[in-house]
Amino acid sequence: MTPKKFDYYSPTSINEAIQLLHDNEDSKVLAGGQSLLALMKLRLAAPSALVDISKLQEMSYVREDKDYLGIGALTIHDIIEHNQTIKKKFTLLTDAASKIGDQQIRNVGTIGGSSCHADPAADLPTALSAVNAHFVIRSGKGQRIVPATEFFVDLFQTAVGHDEVLSEIRLPYLPPRSGSGYIKHSRREGDFAIVGTGVVLTMGDGNVCKDIRIALGAVSATPLRAKSAEEYLKGKTLDDKNIADAAEIANEGADPPSDMHGSKEYRMEMIKVFTRRTVKLAMSRVM
Ligand SMILES: Cc1cc2nc3c(=O)[nH]c(=O)nc-3n(C[C@H](O)[C@H](O)[C@H](O)COP(=O)(O)OP(=O)(O)OC[C@H]3O[C@@H](n4cnc5c(N)ncnc54)[C@H](O)[C@@H]3O)c2cc1C
Repeated sequence: MTPKKFDYYSPTSINEAIQLLHDNEDSKVLAGGQSLLALMKLRLAAPSALVDISKLQEMSYVREDKDYLGIGALTIHDIIEHNQTIKKKFTLLTDAASKIGDQQIRNVGTIGGSSCHADPAADLPTALSAVNAHFVIRSGKGQRIVPATEFFVDLFQTAVGHDEVLSEIRLPYLPPRSGSGYIKHSRREGDFAIVGTGVVLTMGDGNVCKDIRIALGAVSATPLRAKSAEEYLKGKTLDDKNIADAAEIANEGADPPSDMHGSKEYRMEMIKVFTRRTVKLAMSRVM
């Protein structure tokens, strides 16, 4: 199928993009086009106009600020995968980006596009939820900053309004003795996740868990925090038994679909398996 007719704009600044979105009802931002164009070809989306921000180079960067690492919304998955600062400080994002589709997708798809598309099975939204990333959203009225817990609203829905642009994603620095990991469980290399698990943890004295965030992908409409498992582990020694006990309750609140890739029951079991493995992966990376 071919897309319905649409107008096309190529703004030269974020402000111009925001104005074009404001002026064109039912318009949409175009970033890498990896998700949006496919939907348009299937006529599952039919925007009146596309506001193509892909040439706004000022929106592609990885920048160290005093309190956070800032990633421009147009930064492609390939850059996230290979950036050394990200690898050192937020290794789970390296894990997640490296598992997205294939190299062609990673050369074009953007972290902002993946976040705004908000596919529940996507890799970066789950990893960003574990980091508790903050999303900078710009509009004609200025900018607002939304935490991950409020950014992913529902299935394919985020806090970004029609005439708004996601400009940056901020990753608050982790305290000393922190580590992180993301594991994607899929049937074949490059497939979407059957279950995705992201973990960020901070150790206290000895092997005691001071803080932990566990995010699950592909098991509910939005990335899901495994709060019961997190609470169970806080203040406890991270030994095999405690990690296994926490993994047993990690699927509380999950409501995964049954489809050709796996039944609901299978996914509920896989949440336990991959939570256990990802906590251990994050522990092995504590610096
Ligand atoms: C074959 C294939 C395999 C894939 N496999 C995976 C996979 O394994 N894991 C995975 O996570 N993803 C996968 N993807 C999706 C891929 O990561 C896309 O890059 C991503 O979902 C969308 O990014 P994009 O830059 O292409 O966004 P686009 O398609 O351009 O946009 C997606 C949506 O976000 C909006 N948008 C984009 N940028 C902004 C912004 N800055 N501000 C406001 N709104 C914005 C658009 O209006 C649109 O609604 C796959 C895609 C394909 C085609």
